[in-house]
Amino acid sequence: MTNVRVRFAPSPTGPLHIGGVRTALYNYLFAKKNNGTFILRIEDTDQNRFVKGAEDYIIKSLEWAGMVPDEGPVQGGEYGPYRQSERKELYKKYADQLVKDGKAYYAFDTPEQLEEMRTQLREAKVANQQYNALTRTKMTNSLTLSAEEVQSKIDNGDPYVIRLNVPAKEEIRFKDMIRGYVKVHGGTLEDKILLKSDGMPTYHLANIVDDHLMKITHVIRGEEWLPSTPIHVLLYRYLGWEDSMPEFAHLPLLLKPDGNGKLSKRDADKHGFPIFPLNWTDPIKNEVSLGYKESGYLPDAFINFLSLLGWNPGNDEDLFDINKLIELFDIDRIQKSGAKFDIEKAKWFNQQYLKEKSNEELGANLHDFLKTQNVDCDEAKCIQIASFMKERVTFIHEMYTNSKYLFEKPDSYDDKIVNKKWNNEAAEIIMDFAEKIKAENNDDPQKLKQLLMSVVDEKGIGLGKVMPCIRLALTGQGGGPDLMEIISFFGIKESVDRMVNAVEKLG
Ligand code: GLU
Repeated sequence: MTNVRVRFAPSPTGPLHIGGVRTALYNYLFAKKNNGTFILRIEDTDQNRFVKGAEDYIIKSLEWAGMVPDEGPVQGGEYGPYRQSERKELYKKYADQLVKDGKAYYAFDTPEQLEEMRTQLREAKVANQQYNALTRTKMTNSLTLSAEEVQSKIDNGDPYVIRLNVPAKEEIRFKDMIRGYVKVHGGTLEDKILLKSDGMPTYHLANIVDDHLMKITHVIRGEEWLPSTPIHVLLYRYLGWEDSMPEFAHLPLLLKPDGNGKLSKRDADKHGFPIFPLNWTDPIKNEVSLGYKESGYLPDAFINFLSLLGWNPGNDEDLFDINKLIELFDIDRIQKSGAKFDIEKAKWFNQQYLKEKSNEELGANLHDFLKTQNVDCDEAKCIQIASFMKERVTFIHEMYTNSKYLFEKPDSYDDKIVNKKWNNEAAEIIMDFAEKIKAENNDDPQKLKQLLMSVVDEKGIGLGKVMPCIRLALTGQGGGPDLMEIISFFGIKESVDRMVNAVEKLG
């Protein structure tokens, strides 16, 4: 395949949904796999639906996920501008050309006339109340008016739109790379508006003109665009671009966790998981929705998780870094059916990636996180925490939230352990152990272990009886990372203080 060029073409009508990130990812993987070009095009022709900050959010989200476009509003490129609002002068001539060729027509209908048509169709129990081959004959358009009437309306400044003249009796066919051949009867399609009365193109016209001018070879997008594709195919044909028409691949939906219907923000909120890659603050309501990034997901884990929502490599493996994903990715292995969303799987991926990271990287991240919590802990200490906690958590922040005792003395002790294990003998041994480590003043975990063994041997008591009590004294809890590592982390003085405190409190 030569010169693969794909685009991710979001409309900045809000934050990027996780489904949009998956679409971007499949485009990105396909481009990289084929040494192609990954383009970001902002489809912002619908000014009514424009949301402040959405474009910036899309760009930042792609950046966080590691999918930096080769061409786009930030990078520029030979085929720019990459924002449709900056290309608006370009589209009208194609709409005019279509009118000239009889493939589109002017429609002067007022909103009242359109409503009246719909009402009549509804009353006549017609299922689709659309402007189409049947209804257009009764409306005010250049197919029903004379050329003079049309010209005088235009000269008069009457508002008009340009509509596609969809053939009523033709079958429109195209091949989808995932779904195979798709056939749609022209009679079921609407004469879509191509150019609005304000001179702005609609999605359909702008999308086709830009895909053509930007030499897009493959259109990889969500399933919700499948019904628009016959319109697009007609546009390619009518504009004389059929030979260079891109191939289409419509991606399966992301489904709710129970598999019943499309995944929505409401489902995500209900189950308590994010739907957006980054935090999003609604510019009107000022409400903040938590993102994957801020929830503690690592970008590579998030990408790995997302890659498998609708695609699989054909074997049981599931851990792939981005390079491996690029190597393995194949459109033929994208499924037709929807992909059930399972946040537990996302957590599992995060855990797998987290434990493979270096202590230094995790320590630096923990350090940053602690700053946001106003917890003072130097970076060397954070690296040490990472070393003994990384196998035990799913998210970096859990190194703090699940083990606050690492940062502050415990103010309570787990009752279950106290009742089961704590007694005078244990308290005595703890004091002995505290004395010994104080005297030795060496916080090497091996050395500490030896000292503990010597105390236990002297008293002739099992290690299993003492260890939980020492842990309880140090952390207030019944479980956690290796005890000697913890003592070493606290240092001798802090460890002794904690043991003495516990003995004083628990008797
Ligand atoms: N602007 C459309 C969207 O918001 C693009 C669909 C397409 O890729 O053609 O998803």
